[in-house]
Amino acid sequence: AGKLEGKVAIITGGASGMGAADARRFVAEGAKVVLTDLNVDAGEALAAELGENAVFMSHNVASEEDWQRVIAGTVEKFGRVDVLVNNAGILIMKSIEDTTLAEFEKIMQINVTGVFMGMQQVVPLMKAQGSGVIVNMSSAAGIVGQVNTIAYSASKFAVRGMTKAAAMDLGLAGIRVLSIHPGSIATPMTAASGVSEGGQLPLAALNRSGTADEVARVVAFAASDDAAYVTGTELVVDGGLTLG
Ligand code: NAD
Repeated sequence: AGKLEGKVAIITGGASGMGAADARRFVAEGAKVVLTDLNVDAGEALAAELGENAVFMSHNVASEEDWQRVIAGTVEKFGRVDVLVNNAGILIMKSIEDTTLAEFEKIMQINVTGVFMGMQQVVPLMKAQGSGVIVNMSSAAGIVGQVNTIAYSASKFAVRGMTKAAAMDLGLAGIRVLSIHPGSIATPMTAASGVSEGGQLPLAALNRSGTADEVARVVAFAASDDAAYVTGTELVVDGGLTLG
């Protein structure tokens, strides 16, 4: 049996990059997956490919009504929610001088408020079950400062902090909350920003970018009972990017 046998998971941003890798790995490990995204075509195509244990729901993580619909829809389809992976996020690579207030507020709305709303809305269900795991995608940019990440870094440090506070609030209810900190991972996000080619980031100890599945394997571990005594902490999956 897989390490997520019978678990029901919601994965946001599941149409691309690491979210899609999470969806594939979770289904391979025996989970039932609701993958959500703004990108309906790619999300529906992946769900169809993954078969009866996967379903797609359109979702803007910055919308409270969307969260209500997705969580209710998951319960209707699969009966419960064991795992929430708050993976959806956006990157804006600009210096402090070039970042507009509108850009700063947009990144906070999606990367921070979206994660807060998802956690807040799934908690009553998980409390009633007496168990649950919330995995929040932060970043190396939530651990160290990097050039041209003023707004992104603010959002990813916030995710790291909310993870710790939520883990304190929810531990007695049997709910674990963790943050994942990828370094430079080859996905459409980094391809679009030029991070992997521009040489703007310091070299990782392992001297290469990571793959989306190398992160998904750690997300699956975090969500599984193998991590039963792991909560509130950073799982750094960066090939040694933040060591120096
Ligand atoms: P990606 O751009 O390939 O995929 C992100 C997905 O999120 C897309 O399908 C997009 O449509 C979706 N999305 C964006 N805004 C949304 C919204 N408001 N509601 C719902 N869905 C939305 O990105 P990725 O590289 O796979 O990144 C996934 C997560 O990992 C993000 O939170 C990102 O910040 C984080 N991260 C990425 C890297 C990296 O090197 N790629 C490193 C560290 C952290």
